[in-house]
Amino acid sequence: MRIIETISEMQSAAEEIRLCRKTIGVVPTMGYLHEGHISLIKTVRENADIVIVTIFVNPTQFAPHEDFSLYPRDINRDTQLAESAEVDILFIPSSIEMYSSDFLTKVNIEHLSAKLEGKSRPGHFQGVTTIVAKLFNITKPHVAIFGQKDAQQVIVIKRMVQDLNFDIKIIVVPTMREPDGLAMSSRNTYLTPAERSESPVIFASLREAEYLIKNGLKNCLTIKENMSKLILDKKSASIDYISIADPITLDEYGTIEQGQPVLISLAVRFGKTRLIDNILINI
Ligand code: AMP
Repeated sequence: MRIIETISEMQSAAEEIRLCRKTIGVVPTMGYLHEGHISLIKTVRENADIVIVTIFVNPTQFAPHEDFSLYPRDINRDTQLAESAEVDILFIPSSIEMYSSDFLTKVNIEHLSAKLEGKSRPGHFQGVTTIVAKLFNITKPHVAIFGQKDAQQVIVIKRMVQDLNFDIKIIVVPTMREPDGLAMSSRNTYLTPAERSESPVIFASLREAEYLIKNGLKNCLTIKENMSKLILDKKSASIDYISIADPITLDEYGTIEQGQPVLISLAVRFGKTRLIDNILINI
């Protein structure tokens, strides 16, 4: 596995790969790799000749009061995991490499970025789309893989690719979960044992919503009330938002009509740790 730390070396390597008529697949991550990331890497391997994984904890997608400095990092462990997952190139740039002191450009996907996560975390998606656009220009992929775990991120990035004409295929991989249903996330390491034991309620509430919808309940307020009840039964939990929305526009539904695709997503805090999850339902 080749480790690259500079933009110029990464761009030349990508150019050479393309000249050899090989396809490039990229998996952008913030590191502290887990099984969720590994499933993205396996998927990209099936869809491209050369696998690039990027690790960059992107400061511009964190608000000043958020967990940028605390975010778990272990580059030695990540390097070993990437090597065992047969990654070809690990791109690990520094913040200074990615954002020169005179950096001025921001990519903003209007409307979609302002909803859900964007409402709770203003500026977050502008940071995400700016860094992903840069990573696309640096790694020159044919294919890029993202996790359904971050449903809104997928929606926003797909729109960016469409609107800015990136010639890149976006593939979305299902959410990998712990055996008790908790979605794998680098942030799960923040949970205390008591919080960890309560956290599977997020997925349980999504399953409950799915059950209610599949059994004919149409009123979104009632579905959300049922989810809230389950979640708030846990001592350490507080709800940031629950959304039942159109999975393309993210417009909230009041009632669910037969045949409508539904994205149910939520953010819940356990103590200080904020976790997100979602499910897509097609009825
Ligand atoms: P992150 O390192 O958290 O920024 O995530 C990097 C990529 O991995 C994103 O596309 C995430 O959606 C994806 N990802 C994170 N957790 C999971 C998971 N549990 N299952 C599937 N994909 C995931």
